[in-house]
Amino acid sequence: MSLPGATVQALPTGAVPGPAATERAHLFTAGSVAHYRRVLADGIDRVADRVAATDRPFTGATPQDLAPRIAGIDLDRPLGDAGAALDELHDVYLRDAVYFHHPRYLAHLNCPVVIPALLGEAVLSAVNSSMDTWDQSAGGTLIERRLIDWTVDRIGLGPAADGVFSSGGTQSNLQAMLLAREEALARAGIGQSRPETLSGLRILTSAAGHFSVQKAAKLLGLGPEAVITVGTDADRRMRTDELAREIDRCRRAGLRVMAVVATAGTTDFGSIDPLPAIADSCAVAGVWLHVDAAYGCGLLVSPTRRHLLDGIERADSVTVDYHKSFFQPVSSSALVVRDRRVLRHATWHADYLNPARAVEQRIPNQVDKSLQTTRRFDALKLWLTLRIMGPNAVGALFDEVVDRADAAWQLLTEDPRFEVVTRSPLSTVVFRYLPTGPGRQLVDEANLYAREALATSGAALVAGTTVDGAHHLKLTLLNPETTEDDIAHVLDLLAEHAGWYVRTRTAGELSCPVG
Ligand SMILES: *Cc1c(COP(=O)(O)O)cnc(C)c1O
Repeated sequence: MSLPGATVQALPTGAVPGPAATERAHLFTAGSVAHYRRVLADGIDRVADRVAATDRPFTGATPQDLAPRIAGIDLDRPLGDAGAALDELHDVYLRDAVYFHHPRYLAHLNCPVVIPALLGEAVLSAVNSSMDTWDQSAGGTLIERRLIDWTVDRIGLGPAADGVFSSGGTQSNLQAMLLAREEALARAGIGQSRPETLSGLRILTSAAGHFSVQKAAKLLGLGPEAVITVGTDADRRMRTDELAREIDRCRRAGLRVMAVVATAGTTDFGSIDPLPAIADSCAVAGVWLHVDAAYGCGLLVSPTRRHLLDGIERADSVTVDYHKSFFQPVSSSALVVRDRRVLRHATWHADYLNPARAVEQRIPNQVDKSLQTTRRFDALKLWLTLRIMGPNAVGALFDEVVDRADAAWQLLTEDPRFEVVTRSPLSTVVFRYLPTGPGRQLVDEANLYAREALATSGAALVAGTTVDGAHHLKLTLLNPETTEDDIAHVLDLLAEHAGWYVRTRTAGELSCPVG
């Protein structure tokens, strides 16, 4: 770029023309730290005020309420000022967001987050390290490695174990299936995966396993028949007799079982598959065992319930979601493996980033183990959590919600208005409202209605799922602030909504002219 000499001389030395100076004030640099402090403090105040004011988890806002407000904003006309943008954000987001912080948020696997992790989040996004290579993260790489080592020690995977942080359980499971697929093909003497070699591969998981296994299979080029679901027992745990039968059946049919995916904490029921017996079957058959502990990983730090994960130490790979049961903000997950060498299946050398010579120079990098390239330093949140609170404190919080879920199960078994499905070793309760008399045929609709009516009121949020084809309600407890009174109150609300539905529908039907 060449400017006429006169113009350059008209500007003070080192200065840039007008508008750029204002634009630059928004860049976080040595010159703008005062602005950074002010804006962030204002943002923190707004969130703190909003959370302090939550008297219910949700306002019940509908897409019809919010869509015009968001669509009406002209993104090409900036407000220029953080205060004004935060005012606007209150209207389009903060006021009507779903607050997991509230004790009557009982729906999905979302946890309230610990403050040390929020501190980590603020630090990691401001410093903005990228975890792919040493020259973009330095100490961050080593901190992530320490946390992986800490996690594999907790699991008991042995001295050759390793792993990497990821964006979530879906990605961790995908990577596990990639590694399992490549190992299965390598063991069969097939160097390169081709469509014809993929068609004979099978993955066995339970009927209560997570759908990300099916998604991973699809992404890895396997056919729709590749994931075989093994039946579950009355407690929604994988049936090991059926597993052994399926492994055998596959072998006789000339199919290659590339992995068994056991679930330690099923999303719907909180059930934990019998890990020792599954590990036995895998050992006998020489099959990769992946344990999806996205939910149950909180037991790794539980002062009283670690034994529920016995057998996990025999896995070839394990998924952990710190953002499910370690009270970490999204995203925070890891895939760990027993034998670090298998991570090479995720390695690709690029001259600009991670040339093979960097390996020779022993410069640590994480990109060689990851499906991602640019990657957040999510590990910092767990680091500060462990350094400030320690693992026992996290585990004690998780224990508390598990205790509370058991109390909820007890409440439900004693309540004739409801039918409860299983007793979870984790923090999930699946149940349904049971109408009596002629209303019984409306059971499905009544439960669907109750869940929606409750969400519309915003008084509480519960989840729904189907059990053997029938609609059910689900509580997932992850907030230690949820009391038994909260749960009893929510059950009353659900029964009121469902009862109202059944009464009006049966009355409506009775008053219908016959014929
Ligand atoms: C939530 C969950 C997943 C998916 O994890 P994300 O972090 O949501 O991608 C996988 N498996 C199980 C058992 C889960 O509960």
